[in-house]
Amino acid sequence: MHSHIQSSGHIALFTHINPDGDALGSSLGLASYLHDTGKKFTLFLPSEINESLSFMIPEEFRQNIVIWHKENEEQILEMIEGCDLFIGLDFNIPDRAGEFSGILSESETFKILIDHHVGPDTEHFNLVYSDPGTSSASELTYRLLMEMPGIDGDCSRISRIGRESLLTGMTTDTNNFANSAVPSTFRMAADLIAAGTDREKILQHLYFSYPQRRIQAQGYVLNRLLKITDDGVAYIILDRRFQNRFKIREGDTEGFVNIPLSMDCVRMSILLKREMNSKKIRVSVRSKKGISARSCAMRYFNGGGHEQASGGRLFIGQEVKNMQDVADYVEKCTHEFFME
Ligand code: 5GP
Ligand code: MN
Repeated sequence: MHSHIQSSGHIALFTHINPDGDALGSSLGLASYLHDTGKKFTLFLPSEINESLSFMIPEEFRQNIVIWHKENEEQILEMIEGCDLFIGLDFNIPDRAGEFSGILSESETFKILIDHHVGPDTEHFNLVYSDPGTSSASELTYRLLMEMPGIDGDCSRISRIGRESLLTGMTTDTNNFANSAVPSTFRMAADLIAAGTDREKILQHLYFSYPQRRIQAQGYVLNRLLKITDDGVAYIILDRRFQNRFKIREGDTEGFVNIPLSMDCVRMSILLKREMNSKKIRVSVRSKKGISARSCAMRYFNGGGHEQASGGRLFIGQEVKNMQDVADYVEKCTHEFFME
């Protein structure tokens, strides 16, 4: 990877739509190395950053981040065409990169993929670093950076911004070490903390800074909206009325889907959230060990992801006629899923 970075003039970084902590953490971790080694780079985001993750964006990099907007389409595409190396992080197929998926599949530019999902697209990428056994794209990026000249296996040589980004990304993707954390994940964390990375500050941002409306919405969701089927499927439907009532912003309901799994009677948890300005319903699926959230998301929700944490989407007018149909759809599909 180093030789490609070295020989490039302007590097374009891409990550997935609705970027989560790991998408930003891995991208910014790599960006910090490019910054420190004097490389020109731009991080192209297919959609806005949640307010709850905006603390991750370093002031120094603001001018290196471009967020997709329809009205700037031509300008953005021109910028991308001026780049001579593409690096995709935290997604396995170009389709996940929103409006950038076309250029990612069609461009002749050399493309590198750094990811931890099953089934990386080796056809559209020239060089693929994929390890589904890794906790996060952030951990994989950390591993790659550690091999880079100038770092040479000493993580204290990664800048503070890089170390904080990578530790944050890994923390969010493992739900603070609760899921998919493997021995190398703990080693990474131990080494980063020993190198002076401020984990307390990260935890403060991630888990002790929620707006009050989130906790109030959470109470309502668990009391009023949570349903549990006889198959042990917990599901929550968040319609537009709910989102207006609690003034929900992007990111406010992040993590809600995990809560029902803490009940012994629940095997799988599904959260369905209507997008405010489209006919799309975003779906999150989580499961306990031995049950594949991924195959459920692939089969019924046009999605995919990891074995125990996946996502997808439904469209009003396609799989479901209207929002009132969603509960029925979920119950039928999951019943079929568990009957097999
Ligand atoms: P979340 O529920 O947090 O939005 O997503 C959980 C995981 O599911 C993500 O890390 C991602 O791997 C995967 N995922 C979410 N949405 C989609 C989707 O629309 N398509 C695919 N293939 N994977 C998704
Ligand atoms: Mn990830």
